[in-house]
Amino acid sequence: MDDGDQRRLGFGRRCRDDSRPAGDCWLLTGDKYFASNASAELAVAAARPEGAAAGVRGLALFLVPRYRHGGELNYFIRRLKDKIGTRVPTGEVELKQSQGYLLGSAESGIYLILEVLNLSRVANSVVNVALAQRAMADALSYAEQLAAFGKRILDHPQLRHQFENRLTALRSAFALAWDSVQLLNDVWMERLPYSDRYHLFRLVAHLAKYWTAEFAVETAKWAMEVHAGLGGLAEYGAERWLREAMILAIWEGTSHRHILDGLEVMERKRAHKMLFRGLAEIASSKELQDMESEVEQHLKLPPEEREALAEPLFRRLAILTAETLARKSG
Ligand SMILES: Cc1cc2nc3c(=O)[nH]c(=O)nc-3n(C[C@H](O)[C@H](O)[C@H](O)COP(=O)(O)OP(=O)(O)OC[C@H]3O[C@@H](n4cnc5c(N)ncnc54)[C@H](O)[C@@H]3O)c2cc1C
Repeated sequence: MDDGDQRRLGFGRRCRDDSRPAGDCWLLTGDKYFASNASAELAVAAARPEGAAAGVRGLALFLVPRYRHGGELNYFIRRLKDKIGTRVPTGEVELKQSQGYLLGSAESGIYLILEVLNLSRVANSVVNVALAQRAMADALSYAEQLAAFGKRILDHPQLRHQFENRLTALRSAFALAWDSVQLLNDVWMERLPYSDRYHLFRLVAHLAKYWTAEFAVETAKWAMEVHAGLGGLAEYGAERWLREAMILAIWEGTSHRHILDGLEVMERKRAHKMLFRGLAEIASSKELQDMESEVEQHLKLPPEEREALAEPLFRRLAILTAETLARKSG
């Protein structure tokens, strides 16, 4: 439960509970339309303390246990969602005077929320790559078994070429996701004011979440086509990867969101400068220099145009970053 888009959550009456030394206890009220893993023992929820400022700056972060101190349920699951993918229970949750423990200070809520998002976005990128790998492995084992026109379908030039290209792209996508993991490992303890490396992390995390999600969807669709007619049958499993990939692309922010946030960190923090410096150390190339000039030109566009034309640029930047990082890992 990690967003603040809820009807008025929380008011500041402290729980009087000396036997539980768990910091500031608040009572939270509101609805949460999407709550993943709704049966978890502990959840984090963003909520606005009464009287706090409007907008994201007024949000605080709370730890919400499933059970109240006395043992009764602390929040209620109105219904479980019927989804196209993911087996974790996703609930519609009601908080009614639910006990929540303030994490950090109320004023630092938005930064703590970002920390939660940083972690889940990086994790999402790794899952995207793992899903693409699994979809490819299934497609490979199918293509090794099925014969057409006298040989395995894997040995037909077009399909073999596609497998080879996709394997290269998988390695690049993994290198990008892994770079976001390593950068997060460097900066996760940082607090305001953030270092340049933190802003670099943010850019790489947006590139990774965006590109690995797109890659997973494309790969799952392709793997389903390798299974052709059988790919459309639930019993063969290939269609499941496409359904799962579609959810992963939306979770933790859609591609639109990551493109916009990636643009912002380049514009306001000049994070692309650090990115290109690091990439040039791996392999300095004209392609990288051209890309850097293109990014600079793009950032000078009027805001409307900058947003409207951002996707192809972000896509090429993500792919070039991924390919360059893959060279480093050999
Ligand atoms: C299975 C599942 C589980 C989930 N679990 C959780 C959870 O546990 N906790 C939680 O907080 N959330 C959860 N979510 C919600 C999920 O994080 C959001 O659905 C997702 O972040 C997108 O937000 P939204 O649905 O509000 O999209 P909206 O904000 O309604 O956007 C609608 C469309 O408009 C686009 N859009 C919006 N603004 C812009 C813009 N400025 N420029 C361009 N395009 C724009 C979006 O990209 C999107 O395509 C879950 C969702 C699913 C499907």
